[in-house]
Parts: sequence; C-alpha cells; structure tokens
Amino acid sequence: MNKYFLIPSVIVFTFLGCSKNQDKSHFLSNDSHSYANFNDVRISHLNLDLTVDFQQNILDGKVDISIINYTNAKQLILDSKDLTIHKVLLEDSTKTPFTLGDHSETFGQPLVVDIKPTTKMVSVYYTTSPDAEALQWLTPEQTLGKKYPFLFSQSQAILARSWVPCQDGPGVKFTYDATIKTDSNLIALMSAENSTSKSDNGAYTFKMNQPISSYLLALTVGDLEFASTGRNSGVYAEPAMLEKSVWELNTMQSMIDSAEQLYGPYAWDRYDVVILPPSFPFGGMENPRLTFATPTIIAGDRSLVALIAHELAHSWSGNLVTNETWNDFWLNEGFTVYFEQRIMEKIFGKPYEEMLTKLGMGELEATIEKLQNEGNSDDTHLYLDLDGRNPDDGLTDVAYEKGRFFLQKAESVVGRKRFDSFLKNYFTDNKFKPMNTERFIAELNNHLLSPEEEQAINIYAWVYGPGLPDNALVPYSEELDRVEGVIAEYNNNRIKAKDIDITGYTTHHWLYFLRGLKGLDSTKMLELDQNFKFTQTGNSEIACDWFKHCIDNQYETAFPALSDFLTKVGRRKFLTPLYSRLAKTPKNKAWAKEVYQIARKGYHSVSYNTIDEVLK
Ligand SMILES: [Zn+2]
Repeated sequence: MNKYFLIPSVIVFTFLGCSKNQDKSHFLSNDSHSYANFNDVRISHLNLDLTVDFQQNILDGKVDISIINYTNAKQLILDSKDLTIHKVLLEDSTKTPFTLGDHSETFGQPLVVDIKPTTKMVSVYYTTSPDAEALQWLTPEQTLGKKYPFLFSQSQAILARSWVPCQDGPGVKFTYDATIKTDSNLIALMSAENSTSKSDNGAYTFKMNQPISSYLLALTVGDLEFASTGRNSGVYAEPAMLEKSVWELNTMQSMIDSAEQLYGPYAWDRYDVVILPPSFPFGGMENPRLTFATPTIIAGDRSLVALIAHELAHSWSGNLVTNETWNDFWLNEGFTVYFEQRIMEKIFGKPYEEMLTKLGMGELEATIEKLQNEGNSDDTHLYLDLDGRNPDDGLTDVAYEKGRFFLQKAESVVGRKRFDSFLKNYFTDNKFKPMNTERFIAELNNHLLSPEEEQAINIYAWVYGPGLPDNALVPYSEELDRVEGVIAEYNNNRIKAKDIDITGYTTHHWLYFLRGLKGLDSTKMLELDQNFKFTQTGNSEIACDWFKHCIDNQYETAFPALSDFLTKVGRRKFLTPLYSRLAKTPKNKAWAKEVYQIARKGYHSVSYNTIDEVLK
C-alpha cells in the first residue's frame, strides 16, 4: 500500500504552512516513511517518564515533547504505532484535542495534536502495546541466568514510534532526558548517560545532551552487570557472560583511540557495549554511547570483533552525520563499513583487513545477483527509492558493501592522505546534522575532486546505477588466495578433506572455504564434517555457512543442530538464508515450519516479520 493514500492532510499542511518569505534553512527533504509535519513544527527535546511492567509487557507513562513552531502551525503531527493515547496536555496543563489517523500496517498512525502558535511543549500520556514492534520482552527462561525477565528495544528503521510518540524520521534530531522505573533487582540502560550499577529502588534517570534521531532511541532492562575495558569504554552483560565478553572485547579501547586518530574526536563521551540475549535480531545496533550487540560475536577467539569496530564507527557515520531519509541509508552504512575496514587494518594489520574486504566483495556479488534475479535491480543502486515500502525491506548489503567499495574507489583515486583529510572535515563540518546523497556528492565535488578525478570515479554509475561498476577495485588477499587454491583442488576431487592443510586457519579462512565449495554430495558432506567438526562449531558465522550446505545437500545428520541453532539464535542475518533454503522443498519446508512454531516466540518482530513471509 502506498502511504500517500493515507495522509493527504499531512502533505497539504506541509505546503500550506510555509509562507513565501520564510527562512527555509531548517527544511528537510520529504520523508515518505513519516507522517510528521517536521518542516512546520519540529521536536527539539523529549522528556520520557515510563514504568516498565513485566507482568503485562508494556511501558506506561508520558513523554513531554518540546517543539519549535516554524510556521505558526496549529497542529503537531507525530508518528505512532499501536500506542494507546490517554490524554495530551499543553504546557499550562490544559487538555488539548488529538486524533489518531488511519492505521497502516507498516507506518502506524499519525497522531495529530492541536497546538497554539505559542505552544512550546505538549505532554502525551500513553501506554505501549504488548506487541509493540520495537520491544522484545523475554521470559526468564529466554535469558542466560534464567531468573529474571528481560526487555530490549530495536528502533531502527521506523519502530521508535511503537514505544515513543515522536517524529520518527532520521532527519529530525532532538535531545532527551528520561526516568525509567523497573523492578529493583534489574538495571535499565538507554542510549544516554548510564549507571554502572543497580539502583536500590529500580528507578533510573538518563540524559542525552547531544541531538539524536529517533531510530537511536534505545532501552534495555535486565539483570546486567558492568565491567570496564578502558579509559572510556566498558561492557554490560548478564553476570554469567560478563567475563567472557570482557575477554573477547579487549581491543575496544584501542579501537576508539584508532578511530579518533582517523576521523577526529569521539563526540559521545563514553563508548559501552551491552551484550544482549541471543534473540537480538541484528549483529549490533549503534545506539549512541551504548551499542546493543548479539552474543553471537562472543566466539571465544576474538574473531568476530569487527562488528564492534563497525558499531563504533557509526559514532561518526550515522550517529553524528545522519542519513536524512532511508533512501540515503548508504551514507550511514557505506561509510561505516569503510571506516570499520580502516580501524581493523590499524589494529590487526593489512592481511586481516584484506580478508574482511574480500569476504565483503563475495557477499556483495551474491546480493547483487540475487536482487537482479528477483527483478529488483533498482535495489542495487546506492541511492534507493523506498517510497511506500517498509524501509527495512529494501536495506540490503548493497548500502553497506557497494557503499564501502565506492569510498575505497574514491580513496584510490585521490590518495589516502587527501581522502582522510576530506573525511575528517566532512564529519566536523556536518556533525549533528542530517546529510543526503545530493549534498554529499556536492561536498565531494566542491571540497575534494577535480573534474578528472570525478570522471575516474564515475560517481553517477556508483550512486544512481545498478550493480557493481566496472572500475571497482578487485580485492586481493594472499591469505584467502591460499584457500582458493585448496578449494579448487577439493572441488575437482584432486584431494580429500583429510589432506587439507588447515594450519593457521581463522574464522575468515573457514568462511571463505565454505563459501567456495561446489558440487558437494553426501560422501563429501560426511567427510568434511568428520574432519572439521562443522556441525558442532560454536562459531555462529561458520555454523550458518555450513548449515546452508547441509540444507542444499540434505545432510540430515546436522538437522538436530540446525534446529537448535534456529531456536537459540534470533539474528536475522542467519535466519533468513537458512529458512529460505529450507522453504525450497516441501519436505524441508514442513520441517522448518515445525521448528519455527517453537522458535518464533523467541524472535524479535524484525526477524519474525521477515521469516513469516519466507515460510508463508
Ligand atoms: Zn551499520
């Protein structure tokens, strides 16, 4: 459904509201994923006061919303989804009328509040739904400690509106304070200044003095403890997970230091990570000051910490300079993958970075091929057209990896020194502001590129064209070339699994190896498993790539372990390819549905909304 059918009134207000001579410096591009009239009235600060109710799985309370009225508008339009609105007060405590518009399954409802041109603040009293899409409520059994319930939020892309009525588009930035009340044996943490220990009465106050977008509003509540990992970094985790997490993430402080050397001062004071239960739907979420992370990165060998470099890098690309709409998502993610690659190179060395880059290219090629086969070639552009769609559906590896290779191309044309200096200035000049694709290209042309350099990069083909442009750099990795030789021998039946020399193999060698295997059969599957114990691996990245082969080759010996994996892990990146493969045959699809019946209740809405479609 195209949401324009639902909100003609919003469009009318937006255009009628601005008179001819008005200052338009605050203007943001139209955001088709938000009902808000942010070019008329803009929220500038939120003050949340919420009680966490683990009996009913709801948040209940109010939010004071400070506003700037640019056009003397008489209505404030907010985004909301499945919220029960009890009342709305103006700052003089008088009640003001409000209406909720038509409900859209993807976008929720506009909450239209009557205001006066002089109104500076409104207070919305509300309760969230037990099914609020951003929030996942876990029973004690779904946690490691098994003793206490757990709550976490995931607001990106457009789910903040399901727990806070707000202007839920990435271009709108605001500061916030919060008071969160919960059970006294739990700690509440937000994307803000946090306590490092539990309070006596279960009440916590928060401050976020730097402006953020709504998709970065975040809350988690659980039995969590804190340990420091350096000067301004630390880890929160369930008690049984804390020591392992600190060991795994021992490079965090040096990542922060390296990142600051590259792109300027870290703007958010502290950088902490909270390790969530396995149902967290993403690898990590870059909530300011407090990255939310999946426990699947705690692999026991520090091999998956690039994810932390990635989330940290978002402290500049995304959290500081933010995609103005979801169509500009590559400005967040492409920069972040490029930046992650630079941090990893600095800390772990060039050969390590080369492996990550080569694996990234493999993933990008697979994604482009899949999208093109499905007839979705437009989704292989960097600048996207997501109008009328849930942005979550169109955000793929393309924004991440094609974005990275575009920036790498630019770096190769102008040289690293000039590129770094451009980027440092770019982050400084645009901090706490939204950025769109057109303005970024203008920045490149005005501050970095000569016409010849622009031609050599061919910006237009990268940003507005399909697939991977011909001038993309070909990643090289001596380490993975060694594996490539082995794969060729094995695929051509010239060697057996037992003959493969795996000395020095790390997670990345194994991933490359697994992704290169072709023409497997039951004998080879058994042989590989007996020699390398893939079915029993504790490394979720390796497990996922192995299980893909198990499904494709009907290697049912591994199916109990696969069932276990699908039930325990809620990370969508793993679930989608595995369920999609299972859905290809009636027999496996029936088996998958049985597993899903039990597993689904452990998934966040971001994951089950995707898998519901896959198994439909
Ligand atoms: Zn990211």
